[in-house]
Amino acid sequence: FGPKNIITAVAHGHEAAVSIALLLGGQDPRQRLPPPTNLMSQKMGIHEWSYDNDTSLDVRYKVPWAKAETALASIRVEVELGFDAATAFKEAQRCLNCDVQTVFNQSTCIECDACVDICPMDCISFTADGEEADLRGRLKAPALNLAQDLYVSGALKTGRVMVKDEDVCLHCGLCAERCPTGAWDMQKYLFKTAMAESAKRPGRARPALEVAA
Ligand code: SF4
Ligand code: SF4
Repeated sequence: FGPKNIITAVAHGHEAAVSIALLLGGQDPRQRLPPPTNLMSQKMGIHEWSYDNDTSLDVRYKVPWAKAETALASIRVEVELGFDAATAFKEAQRCLNCDVQTVFNQSTCIECDACVDICPMDCISFTADGEEADLRGRLKAPALNLAQDLYVSGALKTGRVMVKDEDVCLHCGLCAERCPTGAWDMQKYLFKTAMAESAKRPGRARPALEVAA
């Protein structure tokens, strides 16, 4: 809740800065450049990825609090004490690497179903195509979170489609390691937001809003 507020506030600050830079540059602040995005393979070897693809079974660690009598004694007392280094490391290991996407290349898939066998979450299915409500109920594991779109390929050689329930994927990369043709790949998604500073540079007819990772 708290971190979301801060992140949203910083993002709004960036947007306001872009608007101000465009306005001062005599341009229409409503004309925004779309944020550049990119997908980049993280493969380094057959079983080696450039991100930590190990999954942790730990449940969320609770941040220790100051004692109530101490916290209530003064408004200046920090209630959340923060993790020690060892607990912070374990908490960080719970990261699901949601920035690393499973990317499916249907032209190289030979429909051997090896990825279906190895997926620990049963989130990959090869099945006849159908309407979403029908598909959701006849996957290897039913896709119950209606707020999460399904990842559905085009028709494969047998006429089936690959359907993946993104909601439960651990981004472990086992499907991509097992696939004999490299039809699955783990690719990092990069999203770069526009920054205002280049709008102030002289000599540019239209300020190219520079990007930052
Ligand atoms: S990354 Fe892991 S959890 Fe996700 S689809 Fe592949 S094998 Fe399944
Ligand atoms: S392991 Fe690769 S080739 Fe086999 S079904 Fe899965 S994506 Fe297709």
